[in-house]
Amino acid sequence: MTHYLIDTHSHIYLDAFDKDRKDIVFNAHKAGVKKILLPNIDSTTIDDMMALCQKYPHHIFPMMGLHPTSVEDDFENELNTIERQLEQNKFYAVGEIGIDLYWDKTFIDEQIIAFERQIDMAIKHQLPIVIHARDSFDEIFEVLDRKHTHELKGVFHSFTGNLEQAQKIIKDYQFYLGINGIVTFKNSHLPEVLKNISIDNILLETDAPYLAPEPKRGRRNESSYMFYTARKVADIFGIDMKTISEKTTENAINLFNLPQHEN
Ligand SMILES: [Zn+2]
Repeated sequence: MTHYLIDTHSHIYLDAFDKDRKDIVFNAHKAGVKKILLPNIDSTTIDDMMALCQKYPHHIFPMMGLHPTSVEDDFENELNTIERQLEQNKFYAVGEIGIDLYWDKTFIDEQIIAFERQIDMAIKHQLPIVIHARDSFDEIFEVLDRKHTHELKGVFHSFTGNLEQAQKIIKDYQFYLGINGIVTFKNSHLPEVLKNISIDNILLETDAPYLAPEPKRGRRNESSYMFYTARKVADIFGIDMKTISEKTTENAINLFNLPQHEN
């Protein structure tokens, strides 16, 4: 296999991989997934995430942010930690950040404040943002319409919206759509949406350990499984694996300003 893919969203620093993390990294490389970007969740995940990146500095890259489901009463402290990390270490994006109204709406105001504050951090540090949107496109669009500048770049990770939302993301913000295993699910409407947009606007990701693609659906996801998602997206666009690899890798390198390929 000679693909060169980049998993732009993977949580392989979590406990779920404590027993076999080394194999996971090796499997990914063998399957052509040569680079992996790690999104942070909150102050409890930073150490494990950074340790993994330091172990594989040419293959695994950290992003820094406060996940919307971790926004609670103490979110000001959490944001200070994120800000301090951004001042002290090299990161490739501010993420994952955004608004999640699926699990709990208690902290919706705080979620919006935290999202805006982290957009400001991204602009200050000249980094792209990785957006987590769940039952919250309208709220997120509202923030972006208020905050967006032409220098703000980013991706809607785990995109599952409709065509209208996809087109707004691409036209109004010039953001990418992050596509993962959901696109392989039987009843997914995503293939129909993707047929109407360009491969130039797509990034591939796993969101491991969640959302494993068919035929691994329901299992713990890992970066090497991104191959199945890539194959499905190639089918949808009617292109071969070589082209999908080249295009999505180029998109990821551009957005995150990653170093070029090393073996
Ligand atoms: Zn995530």
